[in-house]
Amino acid sequence: MDTKLIRYSSEGLSYAARELSSYLDKIYGGEHPIELGDAVVGCAYLSVNPSLSSLDGYDHSLVRYEDGVLRIEGDSELSLLFGVYDYLQLLGCRFWAARHEYVPCGCEVLFADGYSRSFHSAFKYRTWVNRTNDSDVLSFLAKSRVNVVLGCGPWNPDFSSVHASLENADKVKSLGLKLRGPGHAWRELIPDEALFAEHPEYFPLFGGERKPNKRTACFSNPEVRAIFRENFGKYLDAHPYWDIFAFWPEDTPDHLYCSCPECAKTTTQDWYLKLANECAELFFERFPDQVFEIIGYNATETPPSEGETFFKDGKNFLVNLCLGRTRNITVALDGKDGTPEANREFLAKYNAWMDFLKGAGYQGEVMVMDYYNTCAPSGQSLPCKAYRWNCETILRDFLFYKAKGVAGLGAFSGFDLLAWPVPDYFWTYLKMQNDPSIPSVAWNDEFHSGYWHGSEFGGAYRQIIRQLDELLRSDRPGSFDEIDEALARIKARKPRDVEARDLLAAFTKYGKLLCRIYVAYKSGDMESASQGDEELEGFFADHASILSPHIAPYPPLWIKGWLGKLKRYGY
Ligand SMILES: [Zn+2]
Repeated sequence: MDTKLIRYSSEGLSYAARELSSYLDKIYGGEHPIELGDAVVGCAYLSVNPSLSSLDGYDHSLVRYEDGVLRIEGDSELSLLFGVYDYLQLLGCRFWAARHEYVPCGCEVLFADGYSRSFHSAFKYRTWVNRTNDSDVLSFLAKSRVNVVLGCGPWNPDFSSVHASLENADKVKSLGLKLRGPGHAWRELIPDEALFAEHPEYFPLFGGERKPNKRTACFSNPEVRAIFRENFGKYLDAHPYWDIFAFWPEDTPDHLYCSCPECAKTTTQDWYLKLANECAELFFERFPDQVFEIIGYNATETPPSEGETFFKDGKNFLVNLCLGRTRNITVALDGKDGTPEANREFLAKYNAWMDFLKGAGYQGEVMVMDYYNTCAPSGQSLPCKAYRWNCETILRDFLFYKAKGVAGLGAFSGFDLLAWPVPDYFWTYLKMQNDPSIPSVAWNDEFHSGYWHGSEFGGAYRQIIRQLDELLRSDRPGSFDEIDEALARIKARKPRDVEARDLLAAFTKYGKLLCRIYVAYKSGDMESASQGDEELEGFFADHASILSPHIAPYPPLWIKGWLGKLKRYGY
């Protein structure tokens, strides 16, 4: 309902008020002035109501209409911003992806006196891997109730926030989103290579030789750990903006930090926890209310030894279990459809970590980071099976994690825009992490019922997407002829929305290639498989003019050669 005047209770809500105003202008026309002040009859009134946080779930908002005032409340400033978008969705707005949204022209929705509707999110941390620091993407995240952003990039290909800066951080934090990072950044903390001439003993020993390796040091040497801590302090001086400090080693598969006899007496996992505890102590001296994150990944997919403990029992720690690179993403973790070997291995690692945390009296939180859409052809999870997600599996995983007390979700989602060919599954994913009680198919139906609004071939496009899903999920992908024919028929009728047609045609080509590679892998024809891999490396470059408005400039980075090629083609 159109309220014209928007009032807000404190300065921290001015962005939310401006957002509401600009959308109401678009919906109803006219102007919707905003001002700081108390509620008056006929206005929309935005305020923080901390008592909402006592309810189940996280980031509560409330929309209610009472005595002629439309009240939008949140249990924090960020929840209030979420509440504004929750309200706009009640009016019919839909936020499909960055730069892809639907705003109704005019709205008949009215609220009776006494109307009240509350919203919340099921998980405490709903995270996003930020590759572009694109303002529209960040805004889309807030519209989707994402509350934590990893990195304030643009990120470099090896996943550390080398472009992290106060200015880039502010783009994330000005929306109220929590900033998490830097990620794989030990190169900033290990002793400087200039020390090598005088102190070769600071550097790791491998193959009988000590030398800098840009990732680790000889951590059994107390002087080295003192330097590491000192560098950590300097890093915090320069980058004081991390709400969640992600203390991750460099991203390499090496399982040893140093092989000297003294270092070898302790496992890598135990060294990791020791270094984490020493840095956490310093971190909490400066930022007692922030969160310190450690990661279960690569060498630390195995937990530290029984008997190891956390600084202050892990209070304000976040353990990020990032164990799923090789799991089967087509079978849910709950075991109701059986447990394939790959998931058995995943669950063994997951359970070992959870048992360790319990034994260590850990009082912090746990989050998971999954790999639902990054299954590269080159051996990561099931080759080529993840490009169209199985959302019902993801939903069941969310419920599995929820039942285990996991506080946060994340995925290396890969694309910032995710609008290729349409962002249906990603939109569904974001909805489900807020509310996993609704079947994924219901979200998917809602998406397609709205997304094709006004499209002359919407019904046909949706049918093509259904057929593509079937083919991509099939163990024995069949023929794409029917899809090719449907696309040709649409082309012959000279569609107005050429973009949608071209995107689907490109995706169909892509799907064919993926299926070909999958079949080759499955039948053990490695020559055809690697030939397909090579074609895939060039695919994005060859279709850049169609794809560049829909895929972020930081493309899938998991295959050597992709990035370089994309750069050459002018992304
Ligand atoms: Zn050593």
